[in-house]
Amino acid sequence: MSGMGGTSRLRLKAGRERSLRRLHPWVFSGAIDATEGSPRTGDTVRVCSAEGKFLAWAAYSPSSQIRARVWAFDEAEVPGAELFTKRVEAALARRRAIAPDASNAMRLVHAESDQLPGLIADRYDDTLVVQLLSAGCEKWRDTLLGILRERSGCTRVYERSDPEARELEGLPASSGLVFGSAASAPLRIAEHGLEYEVDVVAGQKTGFYLDQRDNRARIGQLAADREVLDCFCYTGGFTLSALAGGARSVLSIDSSAPALARAGRNLALNRMAAARAEWREGDVFHALRKLHREGRQFDLVVLDPPKFAGTSKDAARAARGYKDINLNALKLLRPGGLLATFSCSGGVSPELFQKIVAGAAADAGTPLVLRERYRSAPDHPVRIEFPEGEYLKGLLLERN
Ligand code: SAH
Repeated sequence: MSGMGGTSRLRLKAGRERSLRRLHPWVFSGAIDATEGSPRTGDTVRVCSAEGKFLAWAAYSPSSQIRARVWAFDEAEVPGAELFTKRVEAALARRRAIAPDASNAMRLVHAESDQLPGLIADRYDDTLVVQLLSAGCEKWRDTLLGILRERSGCTRVYERSDPEARELEGLPASSGLVFGSAASAPLRIAEHGLEYEVDVVAGQKTGFYLDQRDNRARIGQLAADREVLDCFCYTGGFTLSALAGGARSVLSIDSSAPALARAGRNLALNRMAAARAEWREGDVFHALRKLHREGRQFDLVVLDPPKFAGTSKDAARAARGYKDINLNALKLLRPGGLLATFSCSGGVSPELFQKIVAGAAADAGTPLVLRERYRSAPDHPVRIEFPEGEYLKGLLLERN
């Protein structure tokens, strides 16, 4: 390829090209036989098989176990503005094809699942919130931000890159306004008929958990006349949906005081009666035990904890956490009650998650029927060759 003559090369060990041939976009350090040239962090490298055959263009990341992330499997698709524009346009076209009116907030780019490894872009009305989480994205920062700004049409762009993810890639923390002028009022989004204020500057992640959009709506449909417990409520996503769906009452728990304060404001924003909502600031692990001691019972319990395991390395510890909260939540469930339980841990597969919950049910002595399964909303696409993209999974279980 012209202009790429000086490109460094990663030559893989014999047989280690298999996952790339299945279009999985990660090259682990252990698969590399030789690094030819002296690539720097974020540089484009040519990944070759042991026999020297081209496999992919990738971004080099010397401090990460994921030593390179694939930009393209086609030799003609040389990384640069043209390819990234094409990728962003494909991502936007995918979003236009899915229920565009459920919300004015949507994930526009979902990293590896949109063939842009490490790049997240969430739109909140006219504001775009971006995460640059890989060495390759950092290298192409200005190009990527320019394309995103232009193609999304957003008037302001914030960066909210997760510092832990950047650290794994050897990158310094980075966040703040990168384009346009700061918003003068809190951002407001609408989702399935409910309004939420979103704090894109100091809120968690990019400000809101967009992946649960359709699951919140579904739980709302199931909540009528039920006494609901919303664990890990953040700014009230499931709480408001349950109240809108006719829940008798909702008790909501989170350890974050700012999140609870915003949840209260969201309740008012939707003109919902404060009397049906009870808020508790605290650690869910302790709060569930306390509720049991208090003799409280519920007809619908939602468990939507933060990520317990980013990778399968932490799966055992995560499993103990999931088992604990599910077991203790089941003790609060009336016969006929529903448990909606989620995991957003990439390191815990849907199969493992179901096993953990089944173990909790057995220990609690609670017979459960599996009624529904949940996943992330369609603006968080999952590519069949990249199962890691299916990080969010949920189960709806009925106690009988
Ligand atoms: N259900 C929410 C999203 C939950 S995100 C929605 O629909 O918007 C996970 C939440 O768990 C965060 O708000 C975080 O503050 C909270 N959290 C993390 N660890 C916790 C703990 N041990 N106890 C209580 N809340 C916790």
